[in-house]
Amino acid sequence: MNSRELLKKKQRIVIKLGSSTITHEKTGALNLGKLEKLIRILTDLTNQGKELVLVSSGAIAVGRKALGLKTKPTEKSLKQACAAVGQAKLMMVYQKLFSEYNQTLAQVLITKYTMLNDISRENAQNTFRELLQMHIIPIVNENDTVSTDEIEFGDNDTLSALVAALIHADLLILLSDIDGLYTDDPTKNPEASFISIVGKIDETICNMGKESATSLGTGGMTTKISAARIATDSGADMVIVNGKDIHILEDVLAGKNVGTLFKAHKNHGFELMDYIKTKQYS
Ligand code: GLU
Repeated sequence: MNSRELLKKKQRIVIKLGSSTITHEKTGALNLGKLEKLIRILTDLTNQGKELVLVSSGAIAVGRKALGLKTKPTEKSLKQACAAVGQAKLMMVYQKLFSEYNQTLAQVLITKYTMLNDISRENAQNTFRELLQMHIIPIVNENDTVSTDEIEFGDNDTLSALVAALIHADLLILLSDIDGLYTDDPTKNPEASFISIVGKIDETICNMGKESATSLGTGGMTTKISAARIATDSGADMVIVNGKDIHILEDVLAGKNVGTLFKAHKNHGFELMDYIKTKQYS
């Protein structure tokens, strides 16, 4: 069975949604049509017996829209106020949409401190275990309202990879506004070619991760490659796909050749704590 075919068998899956994937590009408002499709797909995957964790960005983007801010907030306190308003709104929409299918969900907000503190980390791990056993879908975000510069993850690419490592997921899917990994920035270099599978993340691969931050989210290709290192070292495959068409999620899990697949190569020396303390992968 090839690496793509193996994706059909994945059982414990973390799916990360970028802000640009769940909002309309033109207005910044939530793309409800797309979210409805997404929720149907996710519920059906849990119906098939798969365990899912959704890492959803969008708190700041949704809050910004609700507060009528024309530009992306830069001041910390304003960003945190946006997140406080937006996270509640985001969960309200998820609750409404998932309730159509009777699918229970949960909210898990994490800070770096949650991961650094042994007791908090263990508690988070136990909570995930309980929720997954009950077929509940945890929706995770960074607790942006209380994070400070010193203790923030800052981007949900890293956060989703750490969650995948924490719960021993076997697959992480990053839904983004880029198709996957290219040998160079395709918007600047027409010669850039697409990479479908990465077996090992070496220096050449890391150098391909040029910054391509989106207007709404915070992660670029560099943070995605860094996430891939955490996920693959901890034993999970990782796929980056363009979430423009949400049905691509079904394509990934059907083993189709979409996006870039980073193959797991469990590194027994990988310690989640070491990573968080030293940020050696960034
Ligand atoms: N936690 C941020 C939010 O929900 C998003 C971070 C990111 O874009 O990666 O707005």
